[in-house]
Amino acid sequence: MKVTLLACTPDADRICAVAARSCYSERGASEMMGSIEPEKALPRVIAMGHLSVVEHAAFTFSVEGASRSLTHQLVRHRIASFSQQSQRYVSMEGAGFVIPHTVEADSEAEGLYKETMERIWAAYARLVELGVPNEDARYVLPNGCTTNITITMNARELLHFFSLRCCSRAQWEIREMACQMLELCRKVSPLIFKDAGPACVRGPCPEGEKSCGRPWTKAD
Ligand SMILES: Cc1cc2nc3c(=O)[nH]c(=O)nc-3n(C[C@H](O)[C@H](O)[C@H](O)COP(=O)(O)OP(=O)(O)OC[C@H]3O[C@@H](n4cnc5c(N)ncnc54)[C@H](O)[C@@H]3O)c2cc1C
Repeated sequence: MKVTLLACTPDADRICAVAARSCYSERGASEMMGSIEPEKALPRVIAMGHLSVVEHAAFTFSVEGASRSLTHQLVRHRIASFSQQSQRYVSMEGAGFVIPHTVEADSEAEGLYKETMERIWAAYARLVELGVPNEDARYVLPNGCTTNITITMNARELLHFFSLRCCSRAQWEIREMACQMLELCRKVSPLIFKDAGPACVRGPCPEGEKSCGRPWTKAD
């Protein structure tokens, strides 16, 4: 899977900091842009939960070679915009598939998995050859089929997304993607994403009996 940050609001930390400060100042945001010190203004506001100010920053990612299983989970996040490779307009004959680590770890499981995938793709190709359109032939394709998706989220939604999907309760593939997205966000907006990640980074774990009970590490 390849995760790329395609674009984001320039100087997002400063924009959000000045937006926050403009709520409590007689001066307008344009006047304060040059003088504001984001590291003084922003972390406090975020810690207080005044998260509407980080909605001013948007981030667009390209995720390539993820499974359809991952994207099915991803698109449940409603405060986001998605553009996904179509299985109607793009032939899936050359598409790949994701092999989960648990399958790779066992040679018999891996063999069975790959053989099944080969049969599925052979069936897809034969259906297309018989005149079945891509949009119908795709019904035989598996959850593991790879796809590309472009995602845009504002920073508030990203904080929420990282809270759920960087957690060890999230499935490994979406977790891997979320952790890569967080790293990319931190590089460009270290203040907004300073305490981003699962809830246990900021306080007690809310997962109750499902809690892993361990401090967070992205390598889990
Ligand atoms: C570990 C894990 C396991 C999961 N297992 C399942 C499962 O078994 N089955 C299943 O169906 N789903 C499952 N999900 C998906 C989950 O239920 C959510 O649909 C998904 O995580 C999106 O989260 P969200 O609704 O909080 O966030 P988003 O859709 O990203 O929305 C962000 C926030 O906006 C607000 N919001 C958005 N839309 C509305 C609305 N219509 N009304 C009110 N407030 C709104 C809420 O505060 C919400 O938290 C799982 C998720 C995780 C992380």
